[in-house]
Amino acid sequence: ATPTALLVGTGRGAQMGVLIKGPEILESTRRVDTVVLDKTGTVTTGKMTLVDAVVEPGTGRAELLRLAGALEDASEHPIAQAIARGATQEVGALPAAEDFTNVEGKGVQGVVDGHAVVVGRESLLAEWSLKLSPEVAAAKAQAEGEGKTVVAVGWDGQARGILVVADTVKPTSAEAIAQFKAIGLTPVLLTGDNEAVARQIAAEVGIDEVIAEVLPQDKVDVVRRLQGDGKVVAMIGDGVNDAPALAQADLGLAMGTGADVAIEASDITLVRGDLRSAVDAIRLSRRTLGTIK
Ligand code: ADP
Ligand code: MG
Repeated sequence: ATPTALLVGTGRGAQMGVLIKGPEILESTRRVDTVVLDKTGTVTTGKMTLVDAVVEPGTGRAELLRLAGALEDASEHPIAQAIARGATQEVGALPAAEDFTNVEGKGVQGVVDGHAVVVGRESLLAEWSLKLSPEVAAAKAQAEGEGKTVVAVGWDGQARGILVVADTVKPTSAEAIAQFKAIGLTPVLLTGDNEAVARQIAAEVGIDEVIAEVLPQDKVDVVRRLQGDGKVVAMIGDGVNDAPALAQADLGLAMGTGADVAIEASDITLVRGDLRSAVDAIRLSRRTLGTIK
């Protein structure tokens, strides 16, 4: 393609809300055959709300919300913010957490009101030798089967209950996925969230391939593995934890609504955070390079 054609192409992209870092990027865009999509904040809005709390016998609901909410108030994670907001609405101002630690991709731990509290995946509670009762575990499985995200809460040597948060699929995601498939691309959902939630969200938007329970630092390995299998991979993400995978992918696309590091690691920014713009970008590159070769 001539430099002029490429410049015209990137200029058209900008008009459509697709910011392309350089004209040469259109070439890698054209060759993509696999689209790896982060779940939270990319396929879904990422705006979670607290929808339910289930306590273990002997624990009060207000207590569960107060201690878990206080700890999550110190975290930036969308799940954490939903819990802190929901807890504040129900029980009022939350105490400050001490010795707060974020366990990347797993949850949070710290001290609240003198209690050693942990909130996160069941595997994180297991590291503290805490286990949910069969009744609460069943409630957890049911909520996950409905596509909701469930985190477990424990303190002082006991599992105390679960908190259920729900995210919603962006209204434009299903249409974008259908368009990816229509132009011959295979969409793959990649998430740190559990298999059940991932499958439910995937089904809602029409994605058949799901890679779930991937730790943030391992997302990049998934991209490498696909490339090793001969795929030309576009990765679309929004989070700090997506940045290495976005950089590794043959084409990185960041949601304009996402973290700055994700945008910096990417070749293309989807200004409106709308997945349909990614389809526009690929169509544009094919048109730009196709017509002038
Ligand atoms: P994603 O890949 O969907 O953006 P993350 O890798 O950030 O998700 O987190 C993976 C999982 O770890 C979450 O689904 C949740 O179960 C747990 N987790 C992470 N951070 C927190 C937190 N602050 N509070 C509770 N659970 C958390
Ligand atoms: Mg994300």
